[in-house]
Amino acid sequence: MTELRLSGGCQCGAVRYALLAPPTNPHICHCRMCQKAFGSFFAPLTSVTLDKFEVTRGALAIFYSSDPVERGFCRDCGTPLTIHTIGEDRIFVSIGSLDEPARVAPKKQHGVEGRLPWFDTITHLPGDATTEQEDPALTAKIAASNHQHPDHDTAVWPPKGA
Ligand SMILES: [Zn+2]
Ligand SMILES: [Zn+2]
Repeated sequence: MTELRLSGGCQCGAVRYALLAPPTNPHICHCRMCQKAFGSFFAPLTSVTLDKFEVTRGALAIFYSSDPVERGFCRDCGTPLTIHTIGEDRIFVSIGSLDEPARVAPKKQHGVEGRLPWFDTITHLPGDATTEQEDPALTAKIAASNHQHPDHDTAVWPPKGA
């Protein structure tokens, strides 16, 4: 890792952000609040100090999952992006929303009391690639009408004429 600036954003591209320092405390959180907020089995999170987090496009929408906890997301597409506890100087960012999530491996599990009983089995499930089960016409249609923002910053989004 030489580049310190990591970028990321929501699925639709309305919200983009940058981390101006290497993130720390990468982990997954199994707590029920994170399961609901992410619609998933766990939330993958890493953190930077507030002054090293910059929204570079759009603005976070905030849901208060409890009075002190702000959960930032994209109002247009719903992607969960941040978690910040009021008064703390760190903000957590969802690893999956980073442009290069493979660069931030979780080092710990948090909220293990909420871990789903079959969680340890999922990496052993049979697997297939995205397109193997789909018909080629549908695959082509999805590729030709992809509305997901690419995994890098863009000067203009959505592209003109789209
Ligand atoms: Zn969005
Ligand atoms: Zn949590």
